[in-house]
Order: sequence, then C-alpha cells, then structure tokens
Amino acid sequence: MAQEAFPEHEGQVVHGLTKRVLIVHYHEIWLKGGNKKFFLSRLIAAVKRSLAGLASQPLEHVADRLLVAVPDESLLPVMVGRLQRVFGIAYIGIASEVPCGMPEIAACACHIMGQKNPRSFAVRAKIADAACGLHSMGLERELGHEILTFLRSKGSDVRVNLEDPEVTCWVEVIPGKALVYAERAEGAGGLPAATGGRLVMLLSGGFDSGVAAYKMMRRSAHLIFVHFYGSTSASRGSSKPVAERIVRTLTPYQYTSRLYLIPFDSVQRQIVAGARESLRVLLYRRMMARIGREICQVERGLGLVTGDSVSQVASQTLHNLAAVDQGIELPIYRPLAGDDKEEILRLARRIGTYTISCEPFEDCCPRFMPRSPAIFSNPEELGAAEKGLDIEGLVTEGLEGAQVMDFKYESGQIEVCEGTPHRFEKLVQHRKALRAGIPQPPAPVVKP
Ligand code: ATP
Ligand code: MG
Repeated sequence: MAQEAFPEHEGQVVHGLTKRVLIVHYHEIWLKGGNKKFFLSRLIAAVKRSLAGLASQPLEHVADRLLVAVPDESLLPVMVGRLQRVFGIAYIGIASEVPCGMPEIAACACHIMGQKNPRSFAVRAKIADAACGLHSMGLERELGHEILTFLRSKGSDVRVNLEDPEVTCWVEVIPGKALVYAERAEGAGGLPAATGGRLVMLLSGGFDSGVAAYKMMRRSAHLIFVHFYGSTSASRGSSKPVAERIVRTLTPYQYTSRLYLIPFDSVQRQIVAGARESLRVLLYRRMMARIGREICQVERGLGLVTGDSVSQVASQTLHNLAAVDQGIELPIYRPLAGDDKEEILRLARRIGTYTISCEPFEDCCPRFMPRSPAIFSNPEELGAAEKGLDIEGLVTEGLEGAQVMDFKYESGQIEVCEGTPHRFEKLVQHRKALRAGIPQPPAPVVKP
C-alpha cells in the first residue's frame, strides 16, 4: 500500500522500512518443569538449523518467544515455510518491529489493517515488559479506536468484533520494542525433534505409514525407516523410490534419517509355500516386525511404529494386531490406531506425502493376497502356521539383502549417501555364521 493512503500517520512510520520480524511462539515446552531449559535449547538449535543460509542476524530469545529478523521481504515465505517444519513451534507471528510508543504502534497497526481492509476486526495485546507503561486492555481499546477511525476515514464500514473478527491485529510489547502483526502461520506443534529417543518405523509406500511417522516425529521420536519391497510387475514400478521419496519429504522434520530397504520377495514366497493361505498377510507383518526388531537393536531403538488403523482392513482388527504383536517383545506404536482414513489423508496432504503415495507402485503385501483373509486370528494360530517355516533363516535372509541409505537435511537441501552401518554388518555376519552352523558367542545386547 502506498504511503499517501494513510496521511494521518505520515512521517511517523514508513512501513516498508520498519524491521520485519518473525515471532516464534512455543507452547508445550511451557508445560515442562525442570526440563524446560533442555527443550528450549533444542528448539533454538532446530530453529537455527532450519534457517541456515537464510537468517542474517542472530536469533533473539526475549520474554519467552524467539525473534528472527527477516533480512529481505522476498525471503519471508521460505523462512516461514521452513519454520513450519520445526516441531515445538505453536505459531509464527509475521510482524513489524516499531519503537514502543503509542503513536508508532498505531501508525504501524493502521498501515497493516489498511492493507487487510477487513469487515470486522479485534485488537489483542500482550505486554511482556512491565516497565513500558502500557497495559494490555488500555492498549487494545486505544488502538482499536485508532484503527476504526482510520479505516472508516477511508470509507469502510468496518466494525469491531471481539468474538469472531475477520482479522485480528496483535501487538506484543517486549523490552525496548513493540511487534505488530495481523498474520500468523500455524506451527507444527509437538516437541522439538529427536529429543525423545529412537524408534524403527515400518514404512510402506501407502498413505498411512508416512502420516504415522510424522505423528511420532512430532512427539519427539527420531525415526529409522524400514521398507520391504517385492518384485515389480509390467504395469507397476518398484515401491523403493516411493518409500525413498517419502523419507526425503519427512527428513526436514528430523534433519537426518536412515532408510533400510529390505527385499521381501523370497520371504513372502516361503510363507506362501509353507503356511495357511488365510494367515499370509499376518505372517508377512510378523516377519516385518521381527526384521524391524533386529534393526531396532542395532540402532539402539526403543520400539517399532506402524501405520495401522484399527479395523481399516482385515489384518488390522484388534484380534489380528494382538496376534501379530505376540512375541515381538518391543513396544509397537500405532499412532493412527483411532484415526479415520479421511483424517489421515488430510494430514498426508498437509505434510506433502499424499501425492507421492498416489503414484502406482508394486506393494509387496497384496501379493498372493488370500481370497478370504483371517479376521479373528490369535497368537497360537499364527505360531502353529509358522511351524513349517525357518523363521530365523528368513529374518537373516531379509537382513542380508538390506540396502541402507542415509539422508541429511541442510540449508534447505537433502543429501543422500549409501553404505551399511558397521554394527549392522556385524549383526548380519553373526546371523549368517549361525545359519551356517558355525558356533557364535551370543550377540551383544545393545542398550538404547
Ligand atoms: P495404506 O493403507 O494407505 O495403503 P499403509 O502404510 O497403512 O498404507 P497397509 O497395507 O495398511 O499400508 O499396512 C499397514 C502397516 O504395515 C503400514 O502402515 C506399515 O507400518 C506396515 N507395512 C505394510 N507394508 C509395508 C512395507 N512394504 N514395508 C514396511 N512396512 C509396511
Ligand atoms: Mg493402511
């Protein structure tokens, strides 16, 4: 908006020259007692990391909010976009900084609200500087009056609506300055990334598991991804690049990721050849969990995560989930257990995994799908069905074929490298030697 559009305030603030600031507010960290310092330090580190290459001034931590100076207006969308991927942030105020005086605040607020030209508005003020001489209610009233007069002088029939305003003008007064804004970007919420320990995520190429991963990362878990793939068909490509793209999309939330790609064709064929047809999918899932458990040991993880949603399909009835879990001896987290597909898809769209999962790919689980899958299985039935299978051999076979990829997010880019971690190689060697009948000392127990 041109300066001459609000002559009443001319000369007091030239909006285009006011300092643009992003105000990062956190929420749940507030509830932390003695650990607040730890979580805050991790949040600050995450904010700095996410803005690498963009922010030119040091981050300020003032009165329980973080302030990020915007060096150039054109960088604003990308800075906000990156901050929206930082877990622990409740919301981001896209503000202008002005000196802490009523005329300066009013000029800035009128300019911002003039651009918005709302039919109704409210003013909300937070005073985090006891020495500034302003009080929130007085400031809200006075500023509301200034804005109303200003907008009406421009021919608007705007009204104040404190209950449900079309636009809210926020003012935050902190020591030495005031921050004024009418735009907020939702933060991702949750707790700072990777502050809660590691989990192994069983990641398919479908919609659900990417969303489940996001939900657990948001609750501070650092995820190691494991994807099982089968052979491809003439009409559909491999699921490997799909899983890889999902991991790429999720990595900015936790900065580094590891993906284990496990060939599953041979394991599936042996299950098909040796076990009851109606139990196939459950037996695939149990094998996935067993292989995931070995990787969890090597990676010092504390449990598995899946994208199961209760009763979504036959393999996810409460009976079948309980049967699959029996004997895994690790917590298995299912963050989508109570979610409907619609809710899951909405989140998949928001985090960017939806379009990736829409692509056609060869999913290993529907292969050799039983005509009539079991709905109410139990651990004993699965145990009996596995009698004819060389379970340990199948686990080793899966692990032997693993390909491992490491992803790193830095300055808005993802770097990828391949290579097998030393501890994982040792595990595979150990299992292979056992299989060949060479006596081995027990594998060392790795503590998380
Ligand atoms: P969708 O149901 O949207 O196709 P999904 O990820 O839930 O996607 P399901 O077939 O419902 O796929 O599988 C249930 C869960 O089992 C998955 O969420 C995932 O945790 C695990 N899973 C299934 N297939 C694989 C796979 N190929 N690799 C790793 N985990 C898998
Ligand atoms: Mg599913």
